[in-house]
Amino acid sequence: MSESRFTPRVFSGIKPSGGLTLGNYLGAIKRWVDMQGPEFETIYCVVDLHAITVWQDPAELRAATREVAAGMLASGIDPERSVLFNQSQVSQHSELAWIFNCVARMGWMNRMTQWKEKAGKNAEAQSLGLFAYPSLMAADILLYHATHVPVGEDQKQHVELTRDIAAKFNHDYKVDFFPITEPVIEGPAMRVMNLRDGTRKMSKSGESDMERINMTDDADTIARKFQKARTDASPLPEIVDGLEGRPEARNLVEIYASLADITPAEVLARFPGAGWGTFKPALAELAVEKLAPISREMKRLTSDPAEIDRLLARGAERARELAQPILDRTLDIVGMVRG
Ligand code: ATP
Ligand code: MG
Repeated sequence: MSESRFTPRVFSGIKPSGGLTLGNYLGAIKRWVDMQGPEFETIYCVVDLHAITVWQDPAELRAATREVAAGMLASGIDPERSVLFNQSQVSQHSELAWIFNCVARMGWMNRMTQWKEKAGKNAEAQSLGLFAYPSLMAADILLYHATHVPVGEDQKQHVELTRDIAAKFNHDYKVDFFPITEPVIEGPAMRVMNLRDGTRKMSKSGESDMERINMTDDADTIARKFQKARTDASPLPEIVDGLEGRPEARNLVEIYASLADITPAEVLARFPGAGWGTFKPALAELAVEKLAPISREMKRLTSDPAEIDRLLARGAERARELAQPILDRTLDIVGMVRG
């Protein structure tokens, strides 16, 4: 099937399941900002319906939704150039998700790494929503016929499942209706790792605050967290191959590279054979330099929640206009009677 007939369109989202982390910034938001431009239509979403797959305190959920929106705006998502909204204001997401629940197979969902990790040994006690999550994510993407989805490495499998759902829908109904979306996973920080355990990714819902850098952390906190970040005892290697088998060292080098917009090799060339006593403070200084203006702007924006709500409502209106014709066409294909 040819994808060329689809308008190049980007969709991506972040769950308001907590405050934004450096992983969300480097793996997602920073790249979303760069994709705004003439090449793509860009649609960015605070995916609040995904957040409640795990129970959220309602007041905290509202605050987190506004904080995530503020983080996107403060990082440079322009609500004029991009459609920015929260998912629950566009009910078409849930409607398409139901149809996809009837396309996706139980076996596909059972294979999802994120499900296995988040459900752990206690799958029986998890919400049905957590299990079905990837089908709602497919709806988020395909509701706009999005062709490109910039995400961190952890979401690759879900975008692949989205492709499987699109292909099965097209096949089952003998249509060429949904695009086969490309995951866009690139840059040195596709998978920012937890600062206390270099084998696990940094997550906003992770247990300890010390394992992540929050976008709203102040300079002292950022310095302290990097200072206490787990590392091995060896100094930095001279070449990238020397990071092999050193996940914590690799992580800090990749974070530096992504913040500075250079390659990991360039980072090592800038700090040849440096010890952690040199590198960690330099990394903290760079992180503060990049994050401080963003967190200042986030603070300003969140002090006026009504303005954020107004922006999200306007974005939702634009999103509904894009979504409704695609949902209508889907309902027709499936055989639903509409007046
Ligand atoms: P949660 O712990 O609630 O799942 P999260 O930090 O994983 O939160 P999500 O809302 O699930 O955040 O993901 C939002 C976006 O951020 C996705 O594109 C995801 O790939 C990206 N992302 C999340 N964590 C990282 C990370 N550690 N490194 C790079 N990208 C990440
Ligand atoms: Mg996640």
